[in-house]
Amino acid sequence: MLKSAKLISLALSMGLFFPATICGAGASAGSATAGHANEGTAAHSGLYKSAGEEATKILADYLKIDTTVPPGNEKKGAEYLAKILAENGIEAKILDTAPERACVYARLKGTGKKKAVVLLNHIDVVPANPADWKHPPFCGEIYDGELWGRGALDMKGQGIIQLEAMLLLKRSGVKLDRDIIFLGTPDEEVGGEFGAGWFKKHHPELVSDAEFLINEGFCIEADEKGNAKYWGVNYAEKSALWLELKTKGQAGHASMPLPDSSTNRLVRALNRIVNASPNLKVLPPVAQYFKEISKLETGKTKEVYADIGSHVKDPADVKILMGDVLKSSMLRNTISLTVLKAGYKTNVIPGEASAQLDCRILPGVTKDEFVSYIKPIIDDPKVEISVLEWNVASPSEIKTDLYSAIEAVAAEESPDVPVVPVVVPWFTDSHWFRELGITAYGFEPVEIDKAHFATMHGVDERIPLRGLENGVKRMHKILLKVAAAK
Ligand SMILES: [Zn+2]
Repeated sequence: MLKSAKLISLALSMGLFFPATICGAGASAGSATAGHANEGTAAHSGLYKSAGEEATKILADYLKIDTTVPPGNEKKGAEYLAKILAENGIEAKILDTAPERACVYARLKGTGKKKAVVLLNHIDVVPANPADWKHPPFCGEIYDGELWGRGALDMKGQGIIQLEAMLLLKRSGVKLDRDIIFLGTPDEEVGGEFGAGWFKKHHPELVSDAEFLINEGFCIEADEKGNAKYWGVNYAEKSALWLELKTKGQAGHASMPLPDSSTNRLVRALNRIVNASPNLKVLPPVAQYFKEISKLETGKTKEVYADIGSHVKDPADVKILMGDVLKSSMLRNTISLTVLKAGYKTNVIPGEASAQLDCRILPGVTKDEFVSYIKPIIDDPKVEISVLEWNVASPSEIKTDLYSAIEAVAAEESPDVPVVPVVVPWFTDSHWFRELGITAYGFEPVEIDKAHFATMHGVDERIPLRGLENGVKRMHKILLKVAAAK
């Protein structure tokens, strides 16, 4: 690691690149910038090439650390990150949340003229079965220009992109108006109680001066050739509502079927839910999202996306929309039937049956509104509905300095590629910080195509080295734009 660090700080100390660009005045400082730009661009690409190499080394070793949850063992990961921060002169704190589980917290100080930016990443990863993978999930090795390992995309890769961008800021000595906080947490994949939730509960003071937070959530969606389609900034998540439906009925011998048995009653109710027509609703930012990406589509899809509000009532158009599970999930409250429980003997009609539903609710819709929507669909007062879990998600504002910084970097990095606000159906730890009033965006500045997307929580997870290098560059630029002294 040291070798490339020396090279990077050498490039930075040459001052070739930064003075012009840091203060954003680059754009206005015309010729100077142009001169610098050429010099800058050479040093610039050299800088980011070295930073990309350094990030690759750091991530490779990080991927080798097994932080599968459960059990987690994220403390090893936290200590690994803390060591790198300390080696680069950034003091890092280890905060134990449970045995062998810990957060890592570090802060790069600025003038404090403006509120801080948090770089949030989770250290834990979901399980991986080696038998299903082409290369061992904790190998942290490079094959065909890609770095392989569980967490390469979700989200150890993003964590190291954040870390490397912070190291570049530190080494450049750039004057910051906003502190940069690095926060690595455990337990995200199972809700964050021993991670971000614990941190929010026990140490909110460590981020009390933060205005913005960058986390996982969405990315630069790419086509199968890896070309950027749009930069998707996740500003809101759907709320998670877990429901249990329970039915009771007369128990009996199965040789004499009972029409209103607990199981029959439940199956009839579930059948009505599963076959209910999608109840589409278009939130203004979602309409903006579809309008922007309509430019990437052709034919009927283009027409529908361009003016989605007037098409969601047409069954033929709804069919087109429902063809894409991710995009259609932004337009409706969804219900997934996940758990079924009934019976204990094949020839016995059970007196009780139950099912669990994972419902993902659009921002702004309340739990009660949704339950009163589903009741007439169930259409059976004898079906008991109970709430198992309700995690409400509040959206973040998108008219902010951070969102504008992302737009500005997108304009530099990939002109003509739109930046669009995205509502994601999955949950991240951002909600813990939105509850503290912090504006949180889920954005990984890396091109990810459908095939790579599927490796998250799937098999053969890997990150292209080019993506890692570009990710570092873009994260660094975003932080310069939003945090550097003006
Ligand atoms: Zn994740």
